[in-house]
Amino acid sequence: MSSPQNPKPKSRRKGPSAMLRSAEHLCRLAEGLSQSGSRIEDRWWEQQLETALRVLLEEGDEATIEQALEHLYRSDEAAYGELLDAVESEAAVVRDKTYDLLLIAAPILAWSRYSVPAKGVPPAVLSNLRTAFAAYIFAPDVRFAIADHLFSPDQLPEGYLATRRFLLSMEKAALANEDFVVDSRSLNETLTFLSDIRYLLIAAAVPKGEAIYRWHLAETTREKAFSEWRKRVDPILERLFVGCGIEVEPPDAYFTASRKANRDARVFAIHAAIAYLATEFDIPTNRLKAVVAPCESNAEFEFRIGLSLKPSGQVVHGIPWPLIGNDESEEEMIEKILATLRDCGVSDIVELRRTLPLEYCEDCGAPLFPNVAGELVHAELPGDPHGENDNPRNHGNPPPRYLH
Ligand SMILES: [Zn+2]
Repeated sequence: MSSPQNPKPKSRRKGPSAMLRSAEHLCRLAEGLSQSGSRIEDRWWEQQLETALRVLLEEGDEATIEQALEHLYRSDEAAYGELLDAVESEAAVVRDKTYDLLLIAAPILAWSRYSVPAKGVPPAVLSNLRTAFAAYIFAPDVRFAIADHLFSPDQLPEGYLATRRFLLSMEKAALANEDFVVDSRSLNETLTFLSDIRYLLIAAAVPKGEAIYRWHLAETTREKAFSEWRKRVDPILERLFVGCGIEVEPPDAYFTASRKANRDARVFAIHAAIAYLATEFDIPTNRLKAVVAPCESNAEFEFRIGLSLKPSGQVVHGIPWPLIGNDESEEEMIEKILATLRDCGVSDIVELRRTLPLEYCEDCGAPLFPNVAGELVHAELPGDPHGENDNPRNHGNPPPRYLH
C-alpha cells in the first residue's frame, strides 16, 4: 500500500541527485523552523514555508516537494518533521479570503470474514451522519460536505496534489452544506482483506479566525465530544458495515487521522485474525503459537507475525506490521506486538532475532509468514490448500487470504 498517509519513504532512491533550487529553498526554510528559538521566529519561518508550499501546490509541482522531503529525510530528522508537517497541512487546506477549507477524515477500522464494504453511502445515512458531525464535532459556523463513499486505502487520492484537488472538488458542496457525490467509477478496485480501514472524507469550510471544532468552545472537551459523537454514529455505521466488526476512530485532519488509523489498524488486525480463527475454525488461542520476525528487503522493513497451529506447526494466518512514520523504534514495536498478542490471549510467542527477507508468494502475491522453524511460508487456513478454501461455513465466498 503506497498511500499518501504513510510518511516513511519506503524505497526512496539513495545517492545525491542535483537539487532543484526551489527544493533547496524549502529545505532551508524547514531547517530554519526546526532551529528556531522562539514562537515569533517560528511564525516567520512557518509563514515563509506555507507560502512556498502553497505556490508549489498551486503550480502542480509535487516533484520539488518530494525532492526536499527526500533530502531532509536522509540528512536532518528535525527539519524533515517540520517540512512533512507543513506539506500535510497545506495539501489538506484551501484558503479563501473569508474561510479556510479543510479536509477531514473519519477512519473506521473494520474486519469481516466476508468482505469489508467500500461502497456508496445512501443519502439517509449521510443525513444522520451530518446531524452527528454538526452536533458534536464541528463548531456552529462551520459548513461542510461529507463524501458519499466509504473509501478503502487504495481509493484515497494518491499524493499531495491529488489530495488538494479532491478537496477543491468538494468546495462547492461544503459551502452549500450539501453531500458530495463521488464518481465511484473513477476509483480503484478494492482488494479483499480480512481487516482493513475505511474512510469517511469531509470538507469543512471554517470562517477565518473562527473555531473549527466543538471542543474549541468552552462547552466541551475533545474526549467528551468524541465519545458523544461515537455513541451517535456507532449504530449508524453498524448498519452500513453489515457482518463486520468495527471500531470508529476520532475524526481529525486528513493526514493526522489516517496516520493514526494506519497505526491502530495493526493492533486491530491481530485482534481480527484471532477472532476470525476462533469463530470460523474453532481454534482457541491456547492452540496458537505466534512467531514474530523482522523482515527486510531493498530497504523496506516490516515485522511479520505468523500464527501457527499446535502441535502441527502449520501457519494458519499471518499479519504484517509495518513501521509507520520515522518516530517508531523497532524495540517499541516488538513490545507493542507482544503486548497485543498477550491481550488477545496468545501467550506462546517466539521472537526471532534474525532478519528474514521480505518475501511474497510468487503465485498470489500474499506475504509469507514465519513458522516455528524460522522459515517464511504461505499461510494456509485449515483445509485450505494454497488459498482455495473448502470450509462449508464460507457460503461460497472466497475467504480473505491474509490481512492487510
Ligand atoms: Zn500464494
